[in-house]
Amino acid sequence: MSVLFDRIALIGIGLIGSSLAHDIRRLGLTKEIVVATRSADTLKRAEELGLGDRYTTSSADAVKDADLIIVSVPVGASESVAKEIAGSLKPGAIVTDVGSTKASVIAQMQPHMPDSVHFIPGHPLAGTEKSGPDAGFPGLFEGRWCIFTPVAGTDETALKRLRGFWEALGSKVDEMDAEHHDKVLAIVSHLPHIIAYNIVGTADDLETVTESEVIKYSASGFRDFTRLAASDPTMWRDVCLHNRDAILEMLARFSEDLAYLQRAIRWGEGDKIFELFTRTRAIRRSIIQAGQDVDAPDFGRPHALEKK
Ligand code: NAP
Repeated sequence: MSVLFDRIALIGIGLIGSSLAHDIRRLGLTKEIVVATRSADTLKRAEELGLGDRYTTSSADAVKDADLIIVSVPVGASESVAKEIAGSLKPGAIVTDVGSTKASVIAQMQPHMPDSVHFIPGHPLAGTEKSGPDAGFPGLFEGRWCIFTPVAGTDETALKRLRGFWEALGSKVDEMDAEHHDKVLAIVSHLPHIIAYNIVGTADDLETVTESEVIKYSASGFRDFTRLAASDPTMWRDVCLHNRDAILEMLARFSEDLAYLQRAIRWGEGDKIFELFTRTRAIRRSIIQAGQDVDAPDFGRPHALEKK
């Protein structure tokens, strides 16, 4: 593949930043990767893993002469990063991010971006429950969506270049406004995580069932929630605080629907329960047909006799 940007600066080198580094290198999309992260420990680890060509704890230094800057930090840190890099950006550079909430990131970053750069907010819908530079791997973005939420007046050529970058990583790119993104993500990503954190917390708080029983018998359903509930606490705290309105709106809908189900169980309304469970089963089939998961039973976990 050909070089798309002469120099790429990665600000933040956790799961997303390091996955980007692997792919940029593997696909030869730049001549130089500059890695910046806040702590000396993470920077050292990034260097040991060979994720970049140059390493610094100064975001301002990292962005000098970079043609593409990708900010991959918790969304609550967006403003401080924007302030730090603003004075060092090269005219014509593209600044993007990968944050899971978009209206808040735009509010935090856009006021600090000089007119001479192209600021294009983005969000790859790809990830795992792991974090840090060791968590990244090549191919994370392959076949996944990346959503841009461009602000009014965004330069079409810059948009096209950034689209070309994500397509080179194997992603499909969509565009929508930031408020719509935040509503969609509230239901497909934020609520599932909040529900998982909550159910795992509830199990942990129960007095009549011991923790060892919860763990011992977890394969009957509980453990599928624990993957989401093991996600990075800083990242998900920031998502909750920075997509507050959309999350509260979806939580209200969720509570209403849960009350409906609760009532159906209380009154023994089997037809209502059956109708809901049949409708939801079809959603999983649609996800598999859309190529967003595989059809392997039990999420593809190996089972004892299959391994032999
Ligand atoms: P991560 O693995 O926890 O890495 C976070 C990176 O941000 C590290 O380099 C860390 O630096 C830095 N950082 C943390 N707090 C900071 C602060 N206050 N100021 C400046 N830098 C800070 O996180 P991640 O999973 O890559 O997530 C990064 C972004 O991607 C988030 O905005 C998240 O919403 C978004 N995202 C995540 C996923 C996912 O599944 N994880 C998917 C899509 C989008 P140090 O280690 O040096 O402190």
